[in-house]
Amino acid sequence: MVLFFSCKTNSITGRSQLNLVSESEVQAMALTQYKDFLSKNPVIPSTNSNQEMVLRVGNRIAAAVTKYYTEHGAGDELKGYTWEFHLVESKEVNAWCMPGGKVVVYTGLLPLTQNETALAIVLGHEITHAVAGHGRERMSQEMLAQGIQIAGDVALSNNPKTVSIFNQVYGPAAEIGVLLPYSRKQETEADHYGLIFAAMAGYNPQEAIPFWTRMASMGGDKPPVLLSDHPADEQRIEDLKKAMPEAMKYYKGTKH
Ligand SMILES: [Zn+2]
Repeated sequence: MVLFFSCKTNSITGRSQLNLVSESEVQAMALTQYKDFLSKNPVIPSTNSNQEMVLRVGNRIAAAVTKYYTEHGAGDELKGYTWEFHLVESKEVNAWCMPGGKVVVYTGLLPLTQNETALAIVLGHEITHAVAGHGRERMSQEMLAQGIQIAGDVALSNNPKTVSIFNQVYGPAAEIGVLLPYSRKQETEADHYGLIFAAMAGYNPQEAIPFWTRMASMGGDKPPVLLSDHPADEQRIEDLKKAMPEAMKYYKGTKH
């Protein structure tokens, strides 16, 4: 059966994921969309101290991810990753990472993170969604739902339907509610590995508890992308507490 061959076991999480699209193709599409996004939105200059912080945190998390994947024999999964981190002026409380390591943080997130460590918690989470192939998995599920088959070497970017699905799954064009949101499993994975990556990067993972508590207290004004599809707030805090002892093993104290 075709489906059998279309599943791939994630070498980090050990979970079997539907995989109908190639990583290199989604990275190519992500690069195009990222450039387009940066050209149309107010990017904060590199000399700005908040942008410096985004870059510093991002680079440390990326180094931690690379180290973790390499140590677990999964370095190949990061093939094609060329990390970029940009802060963009926007009221939205949001941040995302596209395949290939293309990251955007919105200035509207910073009043909620309040400190560099909480920003590391968010970036750890968003980067995990990317490196664990969660977007690819969502795209594949939607393609299956729509009965779209990708024949051999036909490029995804040549099929208007797959382009539309890509645009709905990833980044700035994401339309919540149109497609399957990140599943509970994906969210828990992003929290779990996000804590480990933040800890390896020298940020105290325990900051995740007050940070997500602040996010939860936003009430009705919850940010659409970061939270709408996330597990119930209380459940998330419970799960974070369960994941904390493992994450703390990776925390050797603050580097900053
Ligand atoms: Zn998430």
